[in-house]
Amino acid sequence: MNKQPAKAYLRKGKEDSLNRYHPWVFSGAIHHFEGEPEEGDVVEVYTGDNRYIATGHYQIGSIMVRVLSFEGEPIDPSYYLRHLNEALKIRERIGLANSTETNSFRLVHGEGDNLPGLVIDIYDKTAVMQAHSVGMHKDRNIIAEALLKVMNGRLQHIYYKSETTLPYKANILEESGFLAGGKDVCNIAMENGLQFHVDWLKGQKTGFFVDQRENRKLLEQYSKGMKVLNMFCYTGGFSFYAMRGGAELVHSVDSSQKAIDLTNANVGLNFPGDSRHQAFAEDAFKFLDNMQEQYNLIILDPPAFAKHKNALHNALKGYSRLNQKALEKIAPGGILFTFSCSQVVTKDNFRNAVFTAAAYAHRKVRILHQLHQPADHPINIYHPEGEYLKGLVLYVE
Ligand code: SAH
Repeated sequence: MNKQPAKAYLRKGKEDSLNRYHPWVFSGAIHHFEGEPEEGDVVEVYTGDNRYIATGHYQIGSIMVRVLSFEGEPIDPSYYLRHLNEALKIRERIGLANSTETNSFRLVHGEGDNLPGLVIDIYDKTAVMQAHSVGMHKDRNIIAEALLKVMNGRLQHIYYKSETTLPYKANILEESGFLAGGKDVCNIAMENGLQFHVDWLKGQKTGFFVDQRENRKLLEQYSKGMKVLNMFCYTGGFSFYAMRGGAELVHSVDSSQKAIDLTNANVGLNFPGDSRHQAFAEDAFKFLDNMQEQYNLIILDPPAFAKHKNALHNALKGYSRLNQKALEKIAPGGILFTFSCSQVVTKDNFRNAVFTAAAYAHRKVRILHQLHQPADHPINIYHPEGEYLKGLVLYVE
């Protein structure tokens, strides 16, 4: 971190996107390096005519530099302190970091918080930190120290979980573990007054999907007296909101038995012994094929069907097929909450896929709400790739 940064010189004309603050430099844009950076090192980016333009983390791959600064500031502990402080201030303005009802939120959302490659979720007194770049991995201890300072006593534990997010090429020890605290950790957090276990050791992502917080709250308002099917339930978030909303019955489905166990545990935490809830470890498509036409509120929140642009076509077919199955079986006057978290699937792509599904299912469908990611997952306006979650709430005649 202290050595003189290497310099990356761009090919002629390749600075346009950087002039517009887009935070990625692709390998094809780089003409040559002065110095020999190692993966994860800080490098400075210069135009062909030797004008400084950005500073960022270097990495082997198609995105070669992730920009941390356009102002030439050193990437040192005070850099992380400033950025984490700003991220926290925003979460206070949103009303999350100071809420008595919710103690789980995203504190750092990569490019959306001008910290490309870094994700930090807060679960009460524990932060779960993920590095998506080698640079952030190398800086993890400095970041952890800054995070403890910024959170000023509100945080006791920092769990580092990057074994699935670091690039294979990085060839570094992808170990997970506590960077701070780690003793007597309580893994129960709260969202809008509802409790849930967070499995940061084995769970997906950082252990819970905090990005559906507001959409779950909306679902709660639609749940009174409804027969609810929560498809792809994972930790059961939508299920326990539906129960608080007064659902008549709630069925949760996920292909993973571990997810079903977590769902049962979380429902039990909020509604012990409540017989309205049942969970099934089954494949979504099979379940939809075999189910009765009894549900009048269905949630479809599948994993990302397309992780890359070349998988887009098949992904859209997948969304259509899935939504068609649900639309064929939903009770008349039913409500469908349907989502896509694939970044490469645009809002229009998704809407078209659902449109196709509705037409094939021969159902008359109205859009009641258009949903998206919450404010603690901000989108850097110069980095539209940061927009990923979209959803529709449909009324089905
Ligand atoms: N709705 C959840 C998040 C869903 S994550 C929430 O609010 O937290 C996607 C889930 O889909 C994962 O738990 C995964 O196990 C499950 N899944 C993946 N493929 C599936 C399939 N074919 N059938 C059923 N569940 C599946």
